[in-house]
Amino acid sequence: MAIPNVKRFRPFCPTCNDSFTLMAVLPQQANVDAYLADAVARHDHKAFGDQKAAMNKVRVGQQKQQKKK
Ligand SMILES: [Zn+2]
Repeated sequence: MAIPNVKRFRPFCPTCNDSFTLMAVLPQQANVDAYLADAVARHDHKAFGDQKAAMNKVRVGQQKQQKKK
């Protein structure tokens, strides 16, 4: 029952030095390389960095909680 046209990409952003997940519906004849290049060019580096920092915080918090038990 999945939506067949939604594809998942992992373009690499050289500015963030990391790859990010991208879900997109592309027409069959779309130029994927051009689309990904555009996505990287428009990547919100700051938001991505904040997101990664927040994820690391959660992980550290969980580890601390586990040690208490
Ligand atoms: Zn970026």
